[in-house]
Amino acid sequence: MQINIDEARIVADLEKLATFSDTESPVITRVVYSESDQKARAWLKEECKASGLIVREDPLGNLFARWHGSDAAAGAVGTGSHIDAIPHSGRFDGTVGVLGALESIRALQRSGFQPRRSIELLAFISEEPTRFGIGCLGSRMLCGGLSPEKAAALKDRQEVPLDAVRNAAHFSGPLETVKLPAGYYSSFVELHIEQGPILERENIALGIVTSIAAPAALRILIEGEGGHAGAVLMPARRDAFLGAAEIALAVEAAAKGTGVIDTVGTCGLVEVFPGLANSIPNKVKLELDIRDSELARRDAVLREISQACEQIAVRRKLEITSTTLNADAPASCGPEVIDALEKACAEEKIAYQKMVSRAYHDSLFMSRIAPTAMLFIPCKNGVSHRPDEYAAPRDLANGAIVLARAMATLAS
Ligand SMILES: [Zn+2]
Repeated sequence: MQINIDEARIVADLEKLATFSDTESPVITRVVYSESDQKARAWLKEECKASGLIVREDPLGNLFARWHGSDAAAGAVGTGSHIDAIPHSGRFDGTVGVLGALESIRALQRSGFQPRRSIELLAFISEEPTRFGIGCLGSRMLCGGLSPEKAAALKDRQEVPLDAVRNAAHFSGPLETVKLPAGYYSSFVELHIEQGPILERENIALGIVTSIAAPAALRILIEGEGGHAGAVLMPARRDAFLGAAEIALAVEAAAKGTGVIDTVGTCGLVEVFPGLANSIPNKVKLELDIRDSELARRDAVLREISQACEQIAVRRKLEITSTTLNADAPASCGPEVIDALEKACAEEKIAYQKMVSRAYHDSLFMSRIAPTAMLFIPCKNGVSHRPDEYAAPRDLANGAIVLARAMATLAS
């Protein structure tokens, strides 16, 4: 089967989508449910309809565009990603997986391919945690990973409840209906920029993702005793910040201690109270992010950190409490989807490398309801979530053609 990708069309579509932004291109700001986001969606829906796809939206705002297959009862082959963008970011994160996939579908249509299973493009709502503090809201709810009650309790940064925000964006209806029925998708594949440096550095055209790492986020509160920086002598101190500093080093030691490059630990938020140079810190808030591609290994790191906290608390006479903010399980990708992608690369004679996705994606959640894999294209200097984020037209086209062939295999 001859499939021709219109490379210029993908580039032009990405450029058009970049005009829907609160900041001027190439600086993209498109926060979910904002006016820019809604205008972008309206344009995307028209593009999908113009390609003969049947468009629907669920009460949360997930957008589905379906090419009906000959077997209406069979589970669909899903593809897609997100179009929301964090403030001051770039034009390729997520959007490549929507507009690249749309061109894959158009290319399959032009080739004369007739799918047995339906092929469905999905633009997930609220992948970025910018507005509600939780990532992958759309895919989380599609797979039943977040209950309608918990979702309804979410508030945005201005304390406006999710229901009010989505209603204002013309999404109504019960959130109970967002969860997809069993078997809705027979497989799912997401095209995405790598957001890392490996493919570019190794000069490899594509990455086939075999597992997706997931973060565990912890908040740790350390309480000691404040006092005058001159009057309280060192032996009498219960300095909360020194306890926090030891915890931060314990995080590094635990992450390095697995001896596996996939384990990473970050202590990226530190708030010191009262926050004055001449006052002994009486309280510190830390937030940690621990990631791994294997759940057991990640949980072992978490246990090690918690043991370190207990020891530090005793030794320094501090109160240390830890709360898990989030602990999604990492995902293994579906062998049949990986096979379809490998076969497609072989047919197109495009070099690829199997890899781990260290960033978080909607596919993490889709993998709970269907065999899922991801296809990565290189991005310049591995940069993402920045205005200078860039993927070359050739790489976009490589991704789109391999995605198209893989979907053809999975939909036959
Ligand atoms: Zn993304």
